[in-house]
Amino acid sequence: MSSSISERIVTIRSSLPTSVRLIAVSKQVSAEAIRSAYAAGIRDFGESRIQEAAIKQAELQDLPDITWHFIGHLQSNKAKKAIEQFHWIHSVDNLNLAARLEQLAQQLGVSPQVCLQVKIIPDRNKSGWSVSELLADLPILNQYKTLQIQGLMTIPPLGLNQPEILSVFNQSRELAKEIEQQNWSHIKMHELSMGMSGDYELAVEAGATMVRLGTILFGDRS
Ligand SMILES: *Cc1c(COP(=O)(O)O)cnc(C)c1O
Repeated sequence: MSSSISERIVTIRSSLPTSVRLIAVSKQVSAEAIRSAYAAGIRDFGESRIQEAAIKQAELQDLPDITWHFIGHLQSNKAKKAIEQFHWIHSVDNLNLAARLEQLAQQLGVSPQVCLQVKIIPDRNKSGWSVSELLADLPILNQYKTLQIQGLMTIPPLGLNQPEILSVFNQSRELAKEIEQQNWSHIKMHELSMGMSGDYELAVEAGATMVRLGTILFGDRS
């Protein structure tokens, strides 16, 4: 790609509806590149490794209005760091992790924003609730009053064609709607975190509220 990070950000941002939050996925990207994206107006950054993020966050402390999003698989033993370092966790992918995060959030006196990661189609390569497991766990999740459950996060399995990907995103939106209509007191379904560089246009078409874009903004990760 010959264009600069800021040119790409301007182009992509202007192609998205204003209501869609653009999260720049900065994993394996330098603090310098994050500064370029920040200068182009990005305030939401996504990282998938706690340790890697901590180093860059320390370097970027002079940019206090960044909202940090954790998007990777989170091991329980890193849950505390995740809550301390990130405003959002998109990848809450099982009930044990949710329970641990709730407990830690209470202890630390913080209210992290989270999405529940769901697998619309079975996918052994990814973590996340199946639809039926998620529906079954809602009564327990609804008891977690410190975690701010805001919506769903979905990644389609590899190898799907475009109509199949669109279908996964549409089913994710319909699932969120179904959960919302159950009127839980502590589970909100305002957010749909879906769409990466290769499929974000389909995700937006299906109603994504947050897209997570790395390669298309920062170039290939080597
Ligand atoms: C890496 C990653 C992204 C960004 O992927 P690109 O294809 O580079 O846009 C988005 N979401 C998650 C969960 C990721 O791990």
